[in-house]
Amino acid sequence: MKQRIVFATGNAHKMQEIRMILADLGAEVISMKEAGVNVDVVEAGTTFEENARIKAEAIGQILPEDIVLADDSGLEIDYLDKAPGVYSARFAGEHTSYDIKNQMLIDQLAGVPDEKRTARFVCVIAAVFPDGTKKMVRETMEGRIGYEIAGDHGFGYDPIFYLPEYGCTSAQLSPEEKNKISHRGKALRAMRDLMEELL
Ligand code: IMP
Repeated sequence: MKQRIVFATGNAHKMQEIRMILADLGAEVISMKEAGVNVDVVEAGTTFEENARIKAEAIGQILPEDIVLADDSGLEIDYLDKAPGVYSARFAGEHTSYDIKNQMLIDQLAGVPDEKRTARFVCVIAAVFPDGTKKMVRETMEGRIGYEIAGDHGFGYDPIFYLPEYGCTSAQLSPEEKNKISHRGKALRAMRDLMEELL
């Protein structure tokens, strides 16, 4: 039987990126929902590493035969002491729209010059293997907070994440272009390389 890789996320957008990148491993890549797991793991950690590990270990206990991957990601804005960071999804309230969250961040950076608007998306992926082996990778995508909301690809904070070398936001890149340079794309490829060695 094919080895299953279960990704601990309910986010369909992330699953699409994940399937694309892990396609050539020869394993069956499914979401935890597809594996029949519907638990909500509380992200109680204060770092991306802690949250990714908490999720991977919790789901790994439920699915001991599978390779379980979990990610935690977010936006760090240097001028705001790396906020919203691990609280990115919960910033200004979990149910507040990203149009509002994004506008609030632009407002908080009003008058701040280009060189102080540096920011990065961070993605940590933790893996738990059936034999108990644990692995973790961290990757980033560097950019700046823009002056206005622009673009309608991607999700979340993409419309305010300006990439100086591309002259546009990450919401103005195609999914394929974003995957090549994104924190999650890079972390997934690093994790794929680790898994290739272990499979
Ligand atoms: P997670 O699902 O707990 O990893 O939450 C990550 C949060 O960080 C998301 O809900 C977004 O707010 C933000 N985020 C992470 N990656 C991206 C991205 O690629 N684009 C835009 N926002 C992102």
